Amino acid sequence: MKAVRFVEVGKPAEIVDVPQPTPGPGQVLVKIGGAGVCHSDLHIMDEDLGLKGPFTLGHENAGWIAGLGQGVEGWKEGDPVAVYGPWGCGRCHTCQTSAENYCENHASLTTMGGGLGSDGGMADYMLVPSPRLLVPLGKLDPALAAPLSDAALTPYHAIKAALPILTPDTHVLVIGIGGLGHMAVQLLQALCAATVIAGDIDEHKLAHAKELGVRHTVDTRNVDAAAEAVAKLTGPRGAVLALDFVGAQPTIDLCVRVVGRNSRITVVGLGGGTLHYRANQPPYGCQVTVPYWGSRTELMEVIALAGDGRIHPQVEKFPLEKALDVYSTLRQGGIKGRAVLVP
Ligand code: NAD
Ligand code: ZN
Ligand code: ZN
Repeated sequence: MKAVRFVEVGKPAEIVDVPQPTPGPGQVLVKIGGAGVCHSDLHIMDEDLGLKGPFTLGHENAGWIAGLGQGVEGWKEGDPVAVYGPWGCGRCHTCQTSAENYCENHASLTTMGGGLGSDGGMADYMLVPSPRLLVPLGKLDPALAAPLSDAALTPYHAIKAALPILTPDTHVLVIGIGGLGHMAVQLLQALCAATVIAGDIDEHKLAHAKELGVRHTVDTRNVDAAAEAVAKLTGPRGAVLALDFVGAQPTIDLCVRVVGRNSRITVVGLGGGTLHYRANQPPYGCQVTVPYWGSRTELMEVIALAGDGRIHPQVEKFPLEKALDVYSTLRQGGIKGRAVLVP
């Protein structure tokens, strides 16, 4: 079968033939219906994140069960599933709560997940090491649902933790309206009554936010002008939450500028920026959080929201063979919502 493989840092991905895997005891084979193309893959190819290639990329996967290893019960071939992405040890206290994204033994694991150290979903089939990493998809189409497992789960986890401060009289700034950001604005609209402000450097992404029902958009190319525009909307209270899906120096600086006292800055993007602290900057009472992905039960909650039509990933489908073009389009900011590879 064809697979899109990470080779090593500094090299582009390769599309090569690899043997179709067979599930060993306790494993599950998933026929891939869709593999989302996440910006993190560009970080993996560009920077040393401690991942050793080669392995098949694709950490945002959904499909159908195609084979059960010895001893796997409770599932059958053809069941539509999302693959839970962050693979922990499965045994520690945190993993037992289903938050394998925060596994206590992460430092000793040989992989962060499929597509993140071991073979992921940018291929016809993917081997999942344990059925505990599968979540039922219900009636959702795997190609459209694949982004739920990262592009939606990650902002869901970040927003859920902030819900107590997202009262109807507050403002949230979402920076970076790409794969994660376009789900974040929908999740905010579904989960709370705070006013959403969308920021991006690309007018098409701001137009997308408007299509999704966001009333206020801010061009963030100039941080001073953006901070002023946000302040005009929020008044002296400032934003109660700044959600940064870029994480570069200008966006982190903007977060610090726009939030008020007793607020929250949540940096999700891996853009390499640094948050400096001095007295009252970020303002007093501000919590800074750096969430990673989400828990398995949160993935079930996200799937329920999508199954009920309350959030809609904007998906552009591409054949697996187009993966390299898709990566370069993503790098140039040319994907609306999420690109999904469909083998
Ligand atoms: P994407 O490429 O789909 O979207 C990024 C968006 O940010 C684009 O719309 C782009 O125009 C915009 N942007 C770029 N520079 C900007 C700036 N200076 N100001 C405002 N907007 C700007 O990326 P994605 O797949 O949504 O991923 C976003 C980030 O989140 C990446 O860094 C990715 O690695 C990271 N990520 C983190 C986690 C986590 O758990 N922490 C999970 C998934 C992705
Ligand atoms: Zn990702
Ligand atoms: Zn663990």
